[in-house]
Amino acid sequence: MNLQGKTILITGASRGIGRAIALKLAQAGGNIAFTYLGSNQVEIEETENTLLKLGTKVKGFYSDASDFSSTEQVINDVIQTFGSLDVLINNAGITRDNLLLRMRETDWDTVLNVNLKSAFNTVKASIKTFLKQRSGSIINISSVVGIRGNAGQANYAASKAGMIGFTKSIALELGSRNIRANVIAPGFIATDMTDHLTEALQETWEKTIPLNRVGLPEDVANCALFLASDASSYITGQVIQVDGGLLT
Ligand code: NAD
Repeated sequence: MNLQGKTILITGASRGIGRAIALKLAQAGGNIAFTYLGSNQVEIEETENTLLKLGTKVKGFYSDASDFSSTEQVINDVIQTFGSLDVLINNAGITRDNLLLRMRETDWDTVLNVNLKSAFNTVKASIKTFLKQRSGSIINISSVVGIRGNAGQANYAASKAGMIGFTKSIALELGSRNIRANVIAPGFIATDMTDHLTEALQETWEKTIPLNRVGLPEDVANCALFLASDASSYITGQVIQVDGGLLT
């Protein structure tokens, strides 16, 4: 699964799953552009330096994934700096959990904008490049919660379910031009996003996972590498769960 000469853009890759994907794809020879927002400078420099040591081209962009014009600017900069865009990975995501009864309108809007509108923004801004190239792999990071729903996460689950509908639709629209679009639906993955959950809750989750452990960011990165590479060239419109069997 060689990505030599390919340019990959990953949103929200200063830490967690996005960072693990960046490392895995750079190890496979890919050139990495990534965005971040609200992360500390140390995290970003660490990510950039670790990637640079792998010998590929790397650039980080401070950009809000929910903002269309900022995203368009990043895509233009990436194409100018790297000369192409081959793989687009929509990973940026947030949670604002609450029962619907207590959920504020801003919690709904912010989550939908960051998690779902962001995917529209990047795909819309890069579509002409993909069409001209007659190739491209789009990978959208959803969640098992987008398939099953989850109490206390109506906004998050709706955004992640929306991502699945969006991905399947563009897979149908763009397949004839050799542009693929797939979803990864992670289960419980150990990152900052899940770190705030109580130990008791984490243990409860762990017990319900058939493979008997929480997932690691690298588990998701392995799947992203497959979908980014030509090894998956006949796969589009699919949702791949990386969840240890949690939702089976
Ligand atoms: P994380 O909080 O560790 O990292 C999120 C990343 O997104 C950070 O780099 C942050 O800077 C970036 N980000 C946040 N808002 C942004 C914005 N507006 N613009 C640009 N970047 C922004 O989370 P994670 O666990 O690594 O999650 C990554 C993705 O995986 C998310 O989409 C999340 O919903 C999804 N996911 C995570 C889990 C899990 O258990 N951790 C499970 C299923 C799905």
